[in-house]
Amino acid sequence: MTNYGHPVEFGLELVGGADAPGVAVELAVLGERLGYGIVTFPERIREDDEVRADEWTLAAWTAARTNTARIAARVDASVRPASVIARSAGTLQLLSGGRGMLMLGSASAQGGLDAIEEAVAVVRALHDTSTSSVSLAGTHHHLAGAEPGPGLERAVPLWLHGTGTAVADMAGRVADGWAVDLADVGIDGLAARNALLDRAAVDAGRDAREVRRSVTLALSDAFDVDALVALVVEHGVSSMVLRVGSGDQLQLRTFIDEVAPAVRAGVERSLPPGALSSRPLRRADVRARRRPGIDYDDVPEDLAETAVEPGDAGFSGVRSTYLRGGNPGLVLRPSTADEVASAVGFAHKHRHLPLGVRSGGHGISGRSTNDGGLVIDVGRLDDITVMDEAARLVRIGAGARWRDVARALQPYGWALTSGDYGGVGVGGLATAGGIGFLARKHGLTIDHLRAVEMVLADGTLVRASATENPGLFWAVRGAGANFGVAVAFEFVVDEVDEVGWAQLAFQAPDPAAYLEAFGRVVADTPRDTTPFLVLGQGVAQVMAMVDSADPDVIVAQLQPFAEIAPLVQQQVVVAPYAAVMNMFPETPHDGRGEPVSRSAFVREITPGFASASADLIRSGASHWYQIRTVGGAVADVAPEATAYAHRDAGFALAVMGSNAQRLDRWFGPVRDHSEGLYLSFESDRHPDRLTDAFPPATLDRLRRLKAQLDPDNLFRDNFSLTSALDDSRSAS
Ligand SMILES: Cc1cc2nc3c(=O)[nH]c(=O)nc-3n(C[C@H](O)[C@H](O)[C@H](O)COP(=O)(O)OP(=O)(O)OC[C@H]3O[C@@H](n4cnc5c(N)ncnc54)[C@H](O)[C@@H]3O)c2cc1C
Repeated sequence: MTNYGHPVEFGLELVGGADAPGVAVELAVLGERLGYGIVTFPERIREDDEVRADEWTLAAWTAARTNTARIAARVDASVRPASVIARSAGTLQLLSGGRGMLMLGSASAQGGLDAIEEAVAVVRALHDTSTSSVSLAGTHHHLAGAEPGPGLERAVPLWLHGTGTAVADMAGRVADGWAVDLADVGIDGLAARNALLDRAAVDAGRDAREVRRSVTLALSDAFDVDALVALVVEHGVSSMVLRVGSGDQLQLRTFIDEVAPAVRAGVERSLPPGALSSRPLRRADVRARRRPGIDYDDVPEDLAETAVEPGDAGFSGVRSTYLRGGNPGLVLRPSTADEVASAVGFAHKHRHLPLGVRSGGHGISGRSTNDGGLVIDVGRLDDITVMDEAARLVRIGAGARWRDVARALQPYGWALTSGDYGGVGVGGLATAGGIGFLARKHGLTIDHLRAVEMVLADGTLVRASATENPGLFWAVRGAGANFGVAVAFEFVVDEVDEVGWAQLAFQAPDPAAYLEAFGRVVADTPRDTTPFLVLGQGVAQVMAMVDSADPDVIVAQLQPFAEIAPLVQQQVVVAPYAAVMNMFPETPHDGRGEPVSRSAFVREITPGFASASADLIRSGASHWYQIRTVGGAVADVAPEATAYAHRDAGFALAVMGSNAQRLDRWFGPVRDHSEGLYLSFESDRHPDRLTDAFPPATLDRLRRLKAQLDPDNLFRDNFSLTSALDDSRSAS
């Protein structure tokens, strides 16, 4: 008995697509609806060497018309340039959401095998974006300094197709699967090639189970179910692909309705319980890049399919965050609350490793990546649902980005104040505060929170609101990262029509004078206007939002700011809030920057604060000095009502530099003129920063709750509340 433990799946090989592409695509759509899991388009080359309709285009069109089926293009590696094959397969994989497959074969007797093997190397090299350039010199395929890409979340499964024993041997050495036409080799030929393939795999240091086996079957009116079961149980076949054309619709239905269930039942009866598993089995070279201390084989079944390891194609896309470079050992990507609970359970078993919790990956205080540890990335929990339109109650998944939230709320004439950058994630910001462009009019993001669903350290999913787990509800609004993984939030959002949005640039040769003047203007500005200031050497930039669509109101509110110093540039528009949140496109998260960040709150801009700030700016120790205005509605909430307690602050300062020692030398005097800090902009892990972030009574209450809900300090990637005991001073 030879079985490799893969669940059996059924597919279609669509012939005739080259001449009647529309018919082939419709057949593929029907096949998926009926329950077929694979659709293959074989390349057909006429005797006159003329390629008719293109299989990649057929595959791409089919991918767009289907949702679940895997789409394979079968191409001749000695006819098409391998680099073009790699780009086409990668693009199909991207556009289909990871449903692409590539089958390589060759009809050429002369050098066909070499062409296939070289094409495999080219495709794998071009899909590995961990390098910047690829050169390969083959007999058939050459690359000279080619740039890898596209970056893929999941590698394209690479199968070989062919009847020759050499193809089976090569599949054992290098491929993810081997496909053969059963009529061409017969059962004995299949068994012989399988044995050859197994030996080649083992000789190459692989596990023979890494290579899936697929047979193509001609349609028949009388399939022998026992023979098909034997293919699976005795010969390790896990895919049966029917060759069909446009006239075969009836038999296609009969097979999937009658034969396929009988085959599945027969297989189940014949194999020991638990013999089949849909867990992905990684190639030996991928497993070789695993990190110590992680029980990769114990990743819960519900997370195994989407988990990303260092050797996976998608690793470069998840290893780092927006600002922080990382190299975690495993990234778990749950898509439901139950899966988050599974991930937390797994993290608990790996308490000895660092754990990052990630939503949008824009953490500054929380790094949400690490070296050799685990990351729970809830980015797939990104649903945005209006629960009660009359009450403007909206449920938002922790993995959503603020730009998507703004876009989803815009059609209702609503907005939820968030921050100044649409790429930031909901989970990180809504567990810390949320100082945004509507703060003075509408308060912090957390002030709109009515309930949160969170998975705690013991794996339980709880709901916290004013009436359910009120202590946790209080803590989540300012220090949520310490208590669990937020899955979703319920917010009451605001009616916000179009807003006035201004970008003003000034000459500011005297930063202290500019700052003091800015402070005076803000003090006299109504709360419907929230300006943020970026101050540099000789220049100042004010970005301000006025919560009004009336140009006269907007101009009246902005005029005093325009008069602070000579204006060098100005732009004022009336635009939806969503347009401001969508100003900047998403960029890949490659951790460039690694800034050292410092934060402080001040009630008002005093001469001492302005002078210390000016010294800091002139020193060059900081490349980013930004003041967000708060006060207004933020101050309407009592300091003890939420864990975010600095309600009396008028301004929140964020300063970034590249050298901690140098920055601290100049930031120290600024801190002397400030009170407290906003955790989200602080990267100094010294325990004193916790006492800056939380007043004594708040910190005491938080620590008591932490001891109760997370006694093992599982959630510690973002200013652990127990860190006073650890004395874990970081260099940044
Ligand atoms: C370019 C930029 C602009 C910013 N602008 C603003 C702004 O205007 N106003 C403002 O208030 N902040 C702002 N921030 C700070 C930002 O709000 C925080 O860094 C926030 O933590 C980022 O959230 P995230 O989900 O994107 O980050 P992530 O890196 O995914 O998470 C950061 C930390 O938050 C915690 N966390 C993440 N998800 C969850 C979850 N589901 N449950 C529990 N804890 C979780 C973890 O401890 C994690 O380490 C900005 C940051 C950047 C980089």
